[in-house]
Amino acid sequence: MFKPRLFPGGVHPHEGVNGKEVNKGNAIRELPAPERVVIPLSQHIGAPAKPVVAKGDHVLMGQVIAEAGGFVSAPVHSSVSGTVAEISTVKLCNGNETQAITIVNDFKDEWVELHPAEHPETLSQAELQSIVRGAGIVGMGGATFPTAVKLTPASGKVIEKFILNGAECEPYLTADHRLMLEKPVQIIDGLRLMMLSFGVKEAVIGIEDNKKDAIAAMKAACRDVEGIRVQALPVRYPQGGEKQLIYAITRREVPAGGLPIDVGCVVCNVGTVYAIQQAIREGKPLVQRVVTAGGLMNNPGNYLVRVGTRVRSLIEACGGVKPEVRQLVNGGPMMGVAFNDVDAPITKGTSGILALGPEAIDPPEGPCIRCGRCMRHCPMKLLPVHMDQNVRDENYEEAERLGIMSCIECGACTYVCPAKRMLTQSFRMGKKVIAARQRAAKEIAQKAQEELKKEQEAAGKEAK
Ligand code: SF4
Ligand code: SF4
Repeated sequence: MFKPRLFPGGVHPHEGVNGKEVNKGNAIRELPAPERVVIPLSQHIGAPAKPVVAKGDHVLMGQVIAEAGGFVSAPVHSSVSGTVAEISTVKLCNGNETQAITIVNDFKDEWVELHPAEHPETLSQAELQSIVRGAGIVGMGGATFPTAVKLTPASGKVIEKFILNGAECEPYLTADHRLMLEKPVQIIDGLRLMMLSFGVKEAVIGIEDNKKDAIAAMKAACRDVEGIRVQALPVRYPQGGEKQLIYAITRREVPAGGLPIDVGCVVCNVGTVYAIQQAIREGKPLVQRVVTAGGLMNNPGNYLVRVGTRVRSLIEACGGVKPEVRQLVNGGPMMGVAFNDVDAPITKGTSGILALGPEAIDPPEGPCIRCGRCMRHCPMKLLPVHMDQNVRDENYEEAERLGIMSCIECGACTYVCPAKRMLTQSFRMGKKVIAARQRAAKEIAQKAQEELKKEQEAAGKEAK
């Protein structure tokens, strides 16, 4: 029997009494559609989508309201039928500002004409990529990378193996767990269609061993499907990180700065594959998703939520929050971001909205005591203490040399630090500065090249 390999480092985060145990038994309930949805144009990594509707337009559910803004982008669809009220700037739960289209719901739920694939089992790669792109599907584990791009390997790269991420290793979150329990047949169907299209012979579904019922459900669903197996994985955070998952399942290490495809793998979240199946079989774009409303909600649950629903509606459906709540978090407690605007909309990448108590408030930082714990627990084998010092000193070149861009922002180092150093926040900021500098340097180089070209052309004309 295959034994998964444990990745280096990692932690066992404390769940508290309001964690997964409370919510994993709560079946997915549909949150009633709100009176108006606020649908952001940037719910994915890459260029924001470009609006193709205007104020006053009548739109149908599933209609494209904004087209992809580039290759690395995704279109956006209406999650209700109704009338476009405005296009304005909104703040998202992750703190980013983006344009959004507000639609007043007519509560008719009139769908745009849907086009399920006529021959789902014989789709070419290009056809499947086109369906996924058209449906606006992005990584639903929280990464929000456009899935069609992930399914378009660079020339010379071949997908040997699909890996489905059912680890859901963040405390509190149970959305994927419920989806695997309630839609296992559809998830396996979506995976099988992807394998047929890409000619991939092997797929593995990685699930942490604390979800025995989900493991059983997925095993039952793929029992008669050739090439698909379920792998139970040790419970250790961040088991659901792409590189950690690949290592556990294939024993292959994705090189620093590399991608899963460099070792022949493509990793997709189980929710993403469910969305792909819905797009192929039903022709439905991504307009709703399962969200865990957890922690100190009065009645926590797992909800099927229309994209663009305000967080306020979800909290109301849970009967509000308990008095001891100190913080709302978008995502899990390890990688999620604290926010306080309950009017922010739920997006394609919202896996959970958590209400957390006083323990979630960051205590004051103390001086580093050089204990080395952060280094021992880093799953990427980085040197957090040194990277942090360099970011604080604005020595970004050195932070980059130390591998800060390989940091997956998992929060393990922050979690174990006895001095409560805000390491992950420091890396998030440092990476943003370095990425901005790289973009600026690229622009300068491009401009210089253009000027050089102009000069050469001018010199050529003079010579004639
Ligand atoms: S946040 Fe980054 S540096 Fe810290 S443990 Fe995770 S990968 Fe390592
Ligand atoms: S865990 Fe915290 S205190 Fe220990 S070396 Fe790392 S940053 Fe310093």
